[in-house]
Amino acid sequence: MEIVESLEDIPVQNPQAEDFSYTDLTWTKFGTTEHHDEVALIPYARVDEFIIGECSNPDSPTRFHIERGRKRSRGSLKEYKSDEYLEYRMYWCSFGPENYGEGGGVLPSRKYRLKTRNRAARPQSMRGCMCNFVVKRLYARPSLALLIYNERRHVNKAGFVCHGPLDRDA
Ligand SMILES: [Zn+2]
Repeated sequence: MEIVESLEDIPVQNPQAEDFSYTDLTWTKFGTTEHHDEVALIPYARVDEFIIGECSNPDSPTRFHIERGRKRSRGSLKEYKSDEYLEYRMYWCSFGPENYGEGGGVLPSRKYRLKTRNRAARPQSMRGCMCNFVVKRLYARPSLALLIYNERRHVNKAGFVCHGPLDRDA
């Protein structure tokens, strides 16, 4: 796949389905040959619908929680890149990232638990899932969100599917 270096060259996608997910979007490699991410641009107003769609993945029903979040105020930057964030949120599958399968504990980040309508059961234990993506509300274009998928598969560090119907240990 071709690598796109300018955000302006990436089309905004607005899927017709109410809740949509990774498979409803066309993903672009954005960055440089040395470092690029798999991204898609959507209206910021539809971020929640994307998250709901991702939670309803038939192979890996799950929830996502905000693992990391940052914000800056409008007008705070004089110079900025086109992919600079106004709001940055990293969503992580609630079956990860830490592995609390042997005993457990509540992660501090769980205070950010999302209150979205959701069919998936709450995880019984952490499985070390590495699935995560970033939502960047763009500083230059606040009506848009840049989605960056870091790990699409619901796998642990060793690369094995770690929850859902495809998990042979479940
Ligand atoms: Zn997962």
